[in-house]
Amino acid sequence: MSRADARTYDLDALRDRVAGESGGSVDDSIPQLAQADPSLCGMALVLADGTTRTSAQADVAFSIQSAVKPFLFALAILDTGGRALDRIGIEPTGESFDAIKLESGTGRPPNPMVNAGALLTAALVDGGDVRGRDERIWRGLCAFAGRELDVDEDVAHSEHLLGDRNHALAHLMRAEGTLEVGADDAVAVYARACAVLVDADALAAMGATLACGGRNPLTGERVVPPEVARDVVAVMATCGVYDGSGRWMRSVGVPAKSSVSGAIVMSVPGVLGGAVVSPPLDDQGTSVRGHLACEALSADLDLHVFGSL
Ligand code: GLN
Repeated sequence: MSRADARTYDLDALRDRVAGESGGSVDDSIPQLAQADPSLCGMALVLADGTTRTSAQADVAFSIQSAVKPFLFALAILDTGGRALDRIGIEPTGESFDAIKLESGTGRPPNPMVNAGALLTAALVDGGDVRGRDERIWRGLCAFAGRELDVDEDVAHSEHLLGDRNHALAHLMRAEGTLEVGADDAVAVYARACAVLVDADALAAMGATLACGGRNPLTGERVVPPEVARDVVAVMATCGVYDGSGRWMRSVGVPAKSSVSGAIVMSVPGVLGGAVVSPPLDDQGTSVRGHLACEALSADLDLHVFGSL
């Protein structure tokens, strides 16, 4: 098979191939995530020409969690006219997503794909206050997805209340002078962004919009300029799977972002966006079935960026 076969690719067959994998454990950082169905497994692809492929359960809703980070980064670059790129590092950390650590010397978050970076990108978008930034982010995410998305207010509340490490990171960035808005406000906006509800189908469309240079292939809307999409996809490739980014790049070879809800979003430049959701996670917070599925998909459709070697 090759990339051309994506138009007819059988995602239910891929789902069957990984469904028997029982490794990993469901995140328990908030009650709503702890209650996730460990057997959930949904997959979707959205191609550059708008062709959409889905598996069973591609329409099951889940909170986007850290899969929102590439899109927050995109909106922050856009809304600051590029200044966000000076405010946040772009180097991989080799540490977990919620490590209480900033770049030495600068006090900047290490990159936009870990929590410190996403707290800052969520604070840099337009909007003026918490409500305004919530609204701006929600509208931006809807444009990436090409449809109206819901927000799980209970998840937003739990994330805000129980996200002690995020509060610690926000205070640390205040102390360093990197975060200009109030620490609690920054956590509130980030928590609500993590609580936006998507399904595999919507998340694949979001990945496809980045893969298509910032233009949504379903609606035709230009959400961000190509140079913004390129910056975001480059950082997904190097930092998107946290301290598992190297292993991911070797085995799957596609820019991607993982999340604690068990979602993975992929962007294959010029070709497609993809999403898999399956809640049991490995030690690095990556969906176990999701990783297997993405590896098989990449091999089947010849998606690995270094696949010609
Ligand atoms: N909301 C989660 C947090 O900030 C997101 C983390 C993730 O998905 N890796 O802890």
